[in-house]
Amino acid sequence: MKDKNLNDYDVSDLSEVFVDNVDAAIIVDPEIDQYKTIIRRGFFESFLAGAGRYHDLILDLWFHFNDSNEKVSEDYQIFADNTGIFKKKYSRRLKLLLENEEKAHLVQMTVYPFDETKKYLLILDEFDDNESLQESLTSKKITTIQSSYLFSMYIDLVQDTTSSINVAEISDDVVNYNLKYSDWRMMIVNMIWPEDQAQFLRRTDPEYLKANFTPGRTASYDCMMRNLEGKFIWVKLIFSRAQTNYEDDYRFVFMVQDIHENSMEILSTLKRYEEMAITDPLTGVFNHGEIETQFHNAMSLKQKNDDPVSVMLIDLDMFKNINDTYGHSAGDTALKHFAGIMKDFAVEEKASVGRWGGEEFVIVCYGKDAENAKDCAEKLRVRVEGYDFPETGHITCSVGVTELMPEDDFTEAFNRIDKAMYISKHSGRNMVTLL
Ligand code: GH3
Ligand code: MG
Ligand code: MG
Repeated sequence: MKDKNLNDYDVSDLSEVFVDNVDAAIIVDPEIDQYKTIIRRGFFESFLAGAGRYHDLILDLWFHFNDSNEKVSEDYQIFADNTGIFKKKYSRRLKLLLENEEKAHLVQMTVYPFDETKKYLLILDEFDDNESLQESLTSKKITTIQSSYLFSMYIDLVQDTTSSINVAEISDDVVNYNLKYSDWRMMIVNMIWPEDQAQFLRRTDPEYLKANFTPGRTASYDCMMRNLEGKFIWVKLIFSRAQTNYEDDYRFVFMVQDIHENSMEILSTLKRYEEMAITDPLTGVFNHGEIETQFHNAMSLKQKNDDPVSVMLIDLDMFKNINDTYGHSAGDTALKHFAGIMKDFAVEEKASVGRWGGEEFVIVCYGKDAENAKDCAEKLRVRVEGYDFPETGHITCSVGVTELMPEDDFTEAFNRIDKAMYISKHSGRNMVTLL
């Protein structure tokens, strides 16, 4: 550009600067769903096509900002046509990721609607590294909001309308959506995990929202929802009613927050606690409380459907001698190995095994009548007898077996296996007795 006095510049000079500097300029015609790229420089040369469907451009610009190159799933494509609609000037920052690139490009996009023609001009400019640095605060804000808040929307229940809010953008203007709230609800419910859909419909019902939100109130709940790429993730759905003095004014902000990583961590911790609560720490089989619960459950099952179910009590023989001879720690090791044999047995026989206390264990054998259970117990006894315990050599066990009867109560049933086990002991140990 020619150097002139400041006073000699006029509007005709602007286009030259603009054409030489802007990274991308696109004209869009939403009515025929087409766009044409007028200028593309830098990474836009590969990111933007020369022309194409506006729908596809929306998917690339609006829905494709995350740290992945996966395409937007079919389910979400229905929303694209309601997204890139503008009635006034609009600006936002985007993170765009090229295929095979690790680092996203930070881009400023401004949309200028052409009043008469219903077409738009989209101007896209990439921040260079310096600018990015200066913009790091904003960019950090965008990153958090874009990765943590997946989606935000403004709802007016009286008008039955939805509008998108530009949380991460320069302007806080509301951009018009063409979707009615009632229609949106019925579309988005398909993205919710099937078991959570009923709850979603209940809590997004306009009457529910009206009845449960005083002005200014915010409430949220968690559920699983498909992300843009079609995978189910944990999200927090947040509704916040706008502060108002007019009681018939029902406007809400709705946000979807990605809480997947956190939720998965909590779930695995819960699972671990649940396991700890039912596991005997030394042997890793069920603890007393859990195997007693299973014993009770087996009796209820027996009364309900009369399928055979048997129980056994197993006690190690002369275990005090083991401790006295090899030491308590060797005894502990033997107990672990013994529990290991029973765990394998339980898996094979679809049974449950738990430590009743000390060196006594209880097994609940589902689907086995007295004779079957006795054969199984015999198999277990032989297996223990043949096992070479690492520090303590061979150890044997004595077993009491009984089949549960519909009229049994817990004490009666337990006394029978206890008695049967003592008969085995008094008959010379390393034996199975059925009562
Ligand atoms: P019996 O054949 O009559 O069952 O003889 P026993 O020695 O096994 O019977 P008793 O009930 O007299 O002794 C059980 C022993 O088991 C006593 C205790 O030292 C040992 N014991 C119980 N719990 C543990 C444990 O957690 N670790 C170890 N090392 N020993 C245990
Ligand atoms: Mg014993
Ligand atoms: Mg004992």
